[in-house]
Amino acid sequence: MPELPELEVVREVLQRRVVGQLITDVQVLPPGGPIVVRDLSGHGFQGSLSGARIQGIQRRGKFLVLAFEPQPEALFLAINPKLTGRLQLAAASEKRLPRTHIVLVLSGGRQLRYIDQKQMGQLYLTRSLDEVPEYAGLGPEPFDVSLDSFRARLKPFRGEIKGVLTRGEFIAGIGNAYADEILWSARLHPYRKRTQLTPDEIDRLYAAMRITLTEAIEKVRLEMQENIHLKPRDFLAVHMKTGEPCPRCGTPISLVGANQRITNFCRTCQPGGLIKGM
Ligand SMILES: [Zn+2]
Repeated sequence: MPELPELEVVREVLQRRVVGQLITDVQVLPPGGPIVVRDLSGHGFQGSLSGARIQGIQRRGKFLVLAFEPQPEALFLAINPKLTGRLQLAAASEKRLPRTHIVLVLSGGRQLRYIDQKQMGQLYLTRSLDEVPEYAGLGPEPFDVSLDSFRARLKPFRGEIKGVLTRGEFIAGIGNAYADEILWSARLHPYRKRTQLTPDEIDRLYAAMRITLTEAIEKVRLEMQENIHLKPRDFLAVHMKTGEPCPRCGTPISLVGANQRITNFCRTCQPGGLIKGM
């Protein structure tokens, strides 16, 4: 699942490489089966995008938004890759990766492709971002929220702190992987209830969120370069590192859960909390 660090670097690359270009052709694959596309504009996906010029790239939470020059109305393509979607910037001659569903042919000669192994992601074509499900209700970005506001926003949430961190209406952009990383950095057990956290622990969580995401962006930028379809995560401390030594204390990393909803943490560095299912 791409989260804030990956999507932020994708945004940087696309801002550099595709802004100002025209979309000269739009291919939906397989033909007639645009399952991932939601056309909220009412004007047709391919028809609206063909000839549109990319004005800018924005990221908001786990959405990546292509903004087009008004024609005359505003037009946006809001991409929510969810668990399996990713973008690729490719030369026209480059072989398509399996499960490529959308190809935007750019006037500069390259193609912006959308790939999705399980068609879980969604692309919304819209005149107004307020129409996009889950977009308007997003909370602030982690780098825009002050410590006071962070404390105040946490108050209504009473459940396990990991679950709270991944709620987009609390703070936008943090998913399963980076919640594990932030909690490890803050030395907080993922299943502790928000109501059990001391003021000091909440302050630590806020600092850990910002430093973890800042460092991750730098590492992703180095490893991804312009290969935006990659998801570099080898550098993570605990997420997907079950059984490997904790980088801080050497204790083997614990695992709870399965499939896409796993939680990894260090039971020595992150004490306390009732562990589900154990
Ligand atoms: Zn540890």
